[in-house]
Amino acid sequence: MSASLQGRIALVTGASRGIGRAVALELARAGAHIIALARTQGALEELDDEIRAAGGQATLTPCDIKDFDALDRLGGAIFQRWGKLDILVGNAGVLGPVTPLGHIEPKQWDDVFAVNVTANWRLIRSLDPLLRASEAGRAVFISSGVAHTAETRPYWGPYAASKAALEALARTYAAETKNITPVRVMIVNPGPLRTKMRALAMPGENPLTLRTPEDLAPKIAEICAPEWTSTGKLYDFPQDSVLSFSAPA
Ligand code: NAP
Repeated sequence: MSASLQGRIALVTGASRGIGRAVALELARAGAHIIALARTQGALEELDDEIRAAGGQATLTPCDIKDFDALDRLGGAIFQRWGKLDILVGNAGVLGPVTPLGHIEPKQWDDVFAVNVTANWRLIRSLDPLLRASEAGRAVFISSGVAHTAETRPYWGPYAASKAALEALARTYAAETKNITPVRVMIVNPGPLRTKMRALAMPGENPLTLRTPEDLAPKIAEICAPEWTSTGKLYDFPQDSVLSFSAPA
């Protein structure tokens, strides 16, 4: 059972399936009100049904996360309704093209960066005052091990570069909030989990050999709780450990 998140307001991006859906359900079961963002309205409605059946509450935000003006409006709407945001889970992501760097179309590159990086910056920009207004604001960004092991994954260039950029963004936000606010910012590496994205990335793999988003979700709920204290660090699910970043010598 997760730590209590009773009464907390949580925005989860990419909540329509995979890791985001499992995290949204886990946070809702722990008592949080979920603001669920993704493009697929039907899947969000199914999530809403499941959250209600578990006794929880959700507000659906069907939108493309590349609609940055909508992210600004979302900040305004959260302010109007709650005056604060307790939890941001920046999970929505795309794999992008798996192909040599020289073969990638500029629009494909831009789309991957728009979803995996710029949208998370626009969320920080829109929601930072609301996270600071919470007595224990928590921001969690879902990265990938490939941010640190790009040399093992030729052809995954946009994804690897975007996740490395996402981590630098999250670490910058952690540094900006660490000493002067209660906001805590974590990066999570899920490792290989049984989702649509993983099946796209590794079509030959037997998904039944992988752990599931539901296995990871309780840990993310723990990181979202007021009791969590680390910031600017990486939680690595495969090792179940919190890792610090160190500067090159
Ligand atoms: P997934 O099953 O493909 O789910 C991706 C989610 O992101 C969906 O809810 C999707 O919703 C949303 N999304 C994508 N583009 C969007 C857009 N333009 N606007 C709004 N929402 C958008 O992938 P997943 O495996 O759960 O991945 C979740 C996160 O974990 C990603 O950041 C991924 O990079 C990371 N990750 C996953 C693994 C793994 O093994 N699964 C490993 C390492 C890291 P709609 O399509 O409904 O919009």
